Amino acid sequence: KVNRLFHPEDSIIDVAGIKVGGKEKVVVIGGPCSVEGKEQICEIAEEVKQAGGCMLRGGAYKPRTSPYAFQGLGTEGILDMVEARKRTGLPIVSEIMSADKIDEFVEYVDLIQVGARNMQNFDLLKALGKINKPILLKRGLSNTIEEWLMSAEYIMSGGNENVILCERGIRTFERYTRNTLDLSVVPIIKKKSHLPIIIDPSHATGDWDLVESMSLAAIAAGADGLIVEVHNNPEKAWSDGAQSLKPEKFKTMIEKGRVIAQVI
Ligand code: PEP
Ligand code: MN
Repeated sequence: KVNRLFHPEDSIIDVAGIKVGGKEKVVVIGGPCSVEGKEQICEIAEEVKQAGGCMLRGGAYKPRTSPYAFQGLGTEGILDMVEARKRTGLPIVSEIMSADKIDEFVEYVDLIQVGARNMQNFDLLKALGKINKPILLKRGLSNTIEEWLMSAEYIMSGGNENVILCERGIRTFERYTRNTLDLSVVPIIKKKSHLPIIIDPSHATGDWDLVESMSLAAIAAGADGLIVEVHNNPEKAWSDGAQSLKPEKFKTMIEKGRVIAQVI
């Protein structure tokens, strides 16, 4: 169960040997919005590792607003991520969009991301409850904390207790930023639940120039980690370039984070 009443201690989720949660060290996940090819993801993976990141993100199945926008490389993208993991040792995080891809994700991906748009795809959540890979459950664009925790409950009640929550900004009237980062969820989730919570400052702000300050604020608020979009050529990125950090900025961000908390 998601409620802390049933589980007073913080849950620590093991992602291919990396421990997420439990007030000790902060995990920093970095990588591009979309996998664009083997060399691209392998190059970024080396830079993420060198900067101090401990996991690699990269989308192969992309939930794009427009059907004419790049939809992701699919299986080929997942296999490119696998190659990047082989070269760097970094565990890999990628988004699943439908239950019919579960076998592929169980075979290849270390941390399976459920994106904001699928937070209430209950059939997907039920199917993920039947496996034992860790799940990164993002908060929906317009969902309450209660709804979000109930979605985690769907996964956990099926038998998979390996859930990490991720706040990625919610939709408000404010259009200056892409979304509004609801940082108060960190202490609220810590009070209500034992699950780890990480912050995605990239989708929360939509602007690379805001990512460092929001990351540091998230660490100060007690988040268990960050998931940050990093690209070696943001101007040419196939998706979300405007919010992607160049590797050297990502490195500086982690160095500043280390002043506030221990980073894995
Ligand atoms: C992503 O991580 O690239 C993504 C699409 O995130 P979200 O589901 O938070 O919009
Ligand atoms: Mn993205």
